[in-house]
Amino acid sequence: MTANQSPVWHPFTQHGLGEPIPLICNAKDAKLYDADGNSWIDAISSWWVTTHGHANPRIMAAIRDQSEKLDQIIFAGWTHEPAETLAAELVRITPEPLTRVFFSDSGSTSVEVALKMALGYWFNIGEARSRILVLEHSYHGDTIGTMSVGERGVYNRAWQPLLFDVDTIPFPHEAMEQATLDALEAACAAKPAAFIVEPLILGAGGMLIYPAWVLAEMRAICARHGVLFIADEVMTGWGRTGTRFACDQAGVIPDIICLSKGLTGGAIPLAVTLCIEPIFDAHFSKDRGKTFYHSSSYTANPIACAAAKANLEIWRDEPVLQRVDALAEAQAAHLALLSQHPRVANPRRIGTIAALDVTAPDSGYLSSLAPRLAAFFRTRGILLRPLGNSVYVMPPYCTDATELGKVWEAIAASLDEL
Ligand SMILES: *Cc1c(COP(=O)(O)O)cnc(C)c1O
Repeated sequence: MTANQSPVWHPFTQHGLGEPIPLICNAKDAKLYDADGNSWIDAISSWWVTTHGHANPRIMAAIRDQSEKLDQIIFAGWTHEPAETLAAELVRITPEPLTRVFFSDSGSTSVEVALKMALGYWFNIGEARSRILVLEHSYHGDTIGTMSVGERGVYNRAWQPLLFDVDTIPFPHEAMEQATLDALEAACAAKPAAFIVEPLILGAGGMLIYPAWVLAEMRAICARHGVLFIADEVMTGWGRTGTRFACDQAGVIPDIICLSKGLTGGAIPLAVTLCIEPIFDAHFSKDRGKTFYHSSSYTANPIACAAAKANLEIWRDEPVLQRVDALAEAQAAHLALLSQHPRVANPRRIGTIAALDVTAPDSGYLSSLAPRLAAFFRTRGILLRPLGNSVYVMPPYCTDATELGKVWEAIAASLDEL
């Protein structure tokens, strides 16, 4: 089907370019299939969500079973077993101070909830704090609130009049880490409400990696100043960076953590925002005015919660981190082979995520590079979606050596042929 026959308006897609839009019928493990027998290796985990692989049998079975018991129930003042079990398990596997779980349905809404919790906390305890600190090049979603705390640019130009003001801390580039910490320290002195950060790697901002000690220092500065520390682990959670959560590597315990994408193994939408007890306490009252006024129709949908429960059981029963380590090692080896290529700059990796920048003689060439690269990979049976001139590989943990080899072969070919 071509785009101009379909009424569908796709996300982040310029329909005017007339690029083909493959119609996918099946997916299994790391592969996507169309009806004509074509297949693609899903080298970006269907936009960073698929962790164990497509159509994981345990997650699919959990969805089927739950769909025969309870499909949906209002969550304001009512509850159900999958949500209760899941919440208890999330509290158990995250650091002790994180005691409360608020459900929502996407990464963006989990961040909106985090921001509302932070401001609700200060409002309810009677301290006038409302400014948010953010890190340069951040991405936290595409709603008005999450765009406000993200990088301003071509992706949100039309809506900038609606975005609220934030204070931006410079990204901790190599050898510039102290400048970041000093800027954060100075900004914290003005008593902002919270600092929101993507731990260890900024995803949509270009797969920008920074060291664990910087994350730990940033957390310590916020703690010293009583500024709430929000970790947006929507992308980094569930093993991507080599540990279950990126914060684990830095020994960081946030005040609020946002989880989505891999929460259900990538099968079905669900998100959670976990927070420390004082934030819940600030809303706990006989006074209805202190209620946390946030909801969406499908909050804690039972089928989605059942999928997430199955994901946590997989983490409990299967050697997920061993698979992550093996994939990380294979990624490192492939990246090393390409790192000396004359058109490759800034090869970088954390855990299972590997990235490199493609250099080019002129900027005009660079500006059209991402869609041309994506098309090149698509015609070779690989789903990759470069961010500007950054090519990154973020595959499901079940991706085998042959599949991964084909992905990197295609990247090498693109450097030589484009
Ligand atoms: C993808 C992403 C989001 C937004 O999640 P959606 O489910 O797309 O709304 C938020 N934060 C980070 C770090 C992300 O990578």
